[in-house]
Amino acid sequence: MYENSKFVKALREYFFHPSWRCNDCGIEIFEDEYFCEDCKSKLPYNNKKICKHCGRKVEVSCEYCSTCKGRLTQVDLARSVFVYERPINSLIKQAKYENKIYLIELFAKYMAPIYFKSYINADCLCFVPMTDKSLNDRGYNQSQILAQKLSEIIQVPVIDCLIKTKDTTRQAKLDRAGRMKNLQGVFKVNNKSAVNGKTVLIIDDVATTGATSENIAKALKDAGAERVCLLTVASVPSKEGY
Ligand SMILES: [Zn+2]
Ligand SMILES: [Zn+2]
Repeated sequence: MYENSKFVKALREYFFHPSWRCNDCGIEIFEDEYFCEDCKSKLPYNNKKICKHCGRKVEVSCEYCSTCKGRLTQVDLARSVFVYERPINSLIKQAKYENKIYLIELFAKYMAPIYFKSYINADCLCFVPMTDKSLNDRGYNQSQILAQKLSEIIQVPVIDCLIKTKDTTRQAKLDRAGRMKNLQGVFKVNNKSAVNGKTVLIIDDVATTGATSENIAKALKDAGAERVCLLTVASVPSKEGY
């Protein structure tokens, strides 16, 4: 019974993927598109007022928002395609936990123009590593696939230079300070010559508190990276006290 329902699910996945149904409202579409025209126009593009440093949505455009002001940040520049709101938040979760790899490919397509517009000029891309245990449990690293798909479009190589030394799966319940502490020293660079003197672009799905990217950027800078940028599918808006 279980196997059977798994098969039905896989079949349904096949028939609903990706060009026949809008990924938001589910309406039938007939072009090689992921969303219907209506849903596409309503996606939460992060293209209005942003903080020029961390790229988060803000009320008033600024060089440094209240999230990054007064903080020495290791990430030199961050940008994101979307604000972390529906339906993008739900699609990111599906890409991460429900094997919907085609969504990761879609995200990469949206990221490419933002990469070029931001003049990041990266020498290489890197992704957020997982521990072997987490990778075994999930079966794939969505951040790695995202980096690979983007790499194919923008023609910047992905380097597998980072390792994660322990599991930090309880992150979600912690505030920024707690996350920073939890992640301290967790990421290590295992190929320093690959990043020495380079502009490295970290690719990830969501920027929430920024604790992950900050800790990775620190490891990269300690290994000699000259500039570290971050490009994510989505970011949470800047808010006081984060
Ligand atoms: Zn739709
Ligand atoms: Zn900011």
